[in-house]
Amino acid sequence: MNTYTNIDFHCHSTASDGALSPTALVACAAEAGIDCLALTDHDTVAGLAEARQAADQRGMHFVNGVEISVTWSNKTLHIVGLGVDPTHPVLEQALSAVQHGRSERAKQIAERLEKLGVADAYSRALALADGGQLTRTHFARLLVQAGVSKDLKQAFKQHLGNGKPAAVRAQWLALDTAIDAIKSSGGVSVLAHPLRYDMTGAWRARMYAAFAEAGGQAVEVSSGVSQQPDELATCQKEAIRHQLLGSVGSDFHGPEQRWIRHGRLAPVPRGVRPVWEAFPGLLGAARGATL
Ligand code: AMP
Ligand code: MN
Ligand code: MN
Ligand code: MN
Repeated sequence: MNTYTNIDFHCHSTASDGALSPTALVACAAEAGIDCLALTDHDTVAGLAEARQAADQRGMHFVNGVEISVTWSNKTLHIVGLGVDPTHPVLEQALSAVQHGRSERAKQIAERLEKLGVADAYSRALALADGGQLTRTHFARLLVQAGVSKDLKQAFKQHLGNGKPAAVRAQWLALDTAIDAIKSSGGVSVLAHPLRYDMTGAWRARMYAAFAEAGGQAVEVSSGVSQQPDELATCQKEAIRHQLLGSVGSDFHGPEQRWIRHGRLAPVPRGVRPVWEAFPGLLGAARGATL
């Protein structure tokens, strides 16, 4: 089996809300020392071909990924699919359903921002997304550009964060639909950044149980968006308790996220089995019964 020393199974490109093109992202990851990368854009596989070509040219191992938006118990969850076949019709259909919902929600967000005095919010956000999936990140960039917010963090805090006036609630895919689509297309399902959902421990326990019940296999125990030692310990304990495999993902969106230790994430903690050990096909081993 191939062994890699620096795995990152969660990041974004301009195909969704990342700041770098797939090619530039691969270059940035290589510079950070990453030798095994999955591109996991929000609800799209559009960046994969370009990223794979760039990774091939550098001798970096590349894994096809996607981060699917899900609504579960009235909450939004993100499910990362690793090792998916981007051309599989079941996955394509699932993604096109989420993309439709995303675009309808974007129109409603734009209407609310226009009331705040941002003219032509929809077309301007669309231009910022430049053909990629339109996300709240693009609206946050627009608020900064329009001088309404001083930076992205403030744009979320005042207007776009959950519960704020311009945060239109979306109806994303059902949890089992997303996991089934990932599985049908040959992939493994990973619950992304488990500590980012503003849930109590009791709610997280329900979330892990529902995820496993729907066929989910792994959880991002080492995440760039919650890298404190106590957070790692919480994820370790919860992965063990719910018998989930472990993954590592930075959730890197671009160099402006200076707090994300791109390429220097903690390894999968003791007692948790890495997802790539259970599914060696992710690391390029012969595809067989395991993936
Ligand atoms: P969406 O899927 O369109 O709702 O957008 C979600 C994306 O917005 C996430 O993937 C993050 O990249 C970004 N995001 C969400 N909350 C925040 C926040 N508080 N600060 C900065 N970025 C955020
Ligand atoms: Mn994002
Ligand atoms: Mn996410
Ligand atoms: Mn992400």
